[in-house]
Amino acid sequence: MQFQWYPGHMTKAKRQMQEDIKLIDLVIELVDARIPLSSRNPDIDELGKNKARLIIMNKSDLSDENQNKEWAAYFKKMGCYVVGLDARTKAGMKTVTNVVMEACKEKIERDRRRGILNRPVRAMVVGIPNVGKSTFINSYAGKACAKTGNKPGVTKGKQWIRLNKNLELLDTPGILWPKFEDQMVGLRLALIGAIKDEILNIDELSLELIKVLTRDYAGILTDRYGVDETQTPVKILEQIAENRKCISKGNELDYSKAAALLIDEFRGGKLGKITLEWPQVQAE
Ligand code: GDP
Repeated sequence: MQFQWYPGHMTKAKRQMQEDIKLIDLVIELVDARIPLSSRNPDIDELGKNKARLIIMNKSDLSDENQNKEWAAYFKKMGCYVVGLDARTKAGMKTVTNVVMEACKEKIERDRRRGILNRPVRAMVVGIPNVGKSTFINSYAGKACAKTGNKPGVTKGKQWIRLNKNLELLDTPGILWPKFEDQMVGLRLALIGAIKDEILNIDELSLELIKVLTRDYAGILTDRYGVDETQTPVKILEQIAENRKCISKGNELDYSKAAALLIDEFRGGKLGKITLEWPQVQAE
């Protein structure tokens, strides 16, 4: 799902989120593991400040394993629990449940001291568009789970999915708006496909990708396209066009076709597992 944002949307989404957050104990925030910072809106830190926090670094099947570890440490330092995941598979869901229970231990303990037994922990999923919220809810809750129906004090239409006797999940995710005032953030969001391609210049985007890859992942472009990475980004794009026979009708090299091909292959993971922003750099 790709989105365009208008101020009206944002205000409404934020207000909705403020309401929903009152109902829950745990915020499950999904980020894209290829751009863990650019794919989050830090407003959630304020909105969820008194809640237990779990950050799921989703699409970690596409991101750099070394950087996954660095980012996990970064988010733990922030006071969050962290799990790396490919939400399309069932494989990591048991880990998610374990970490969720761990994250809520304090609350369960507090309930117990007050004599409240077996009140399930309530959680909601939040994140910017396209990070995999719906995919995650489907994999995690599945279709087998009974919905518990409306409860007193809950906005009509809101449904809780009962995952086990200890845990309930709000069936609709909270949508955060991406923060792309910063040009680099916008660029990274565009590279992973979170912003509509029509509003971007695909040639420029591909040149930026070439810059990042030759800097952080030396050899990757040579391996896949046989290019000379010591050349300028434009020259490298030209070599990709040549080597992949991106030719326009007038028999000239088609740079845009090569740009689209490169970005497509990056998004599909064909260039390897790549993380576009590194926590070490953020700290500097
Ligand atoms: P939402 O807008 O946050 O609800 O995102 P969706 O659940 O609609 O997912 C957006 C796209 O990302 C879909 O094409 C999903 O198949 C894909 N997707 C979701 N999770 C993963 C993941 O862990 N790995 C990969 N490679 N793709 C994923």
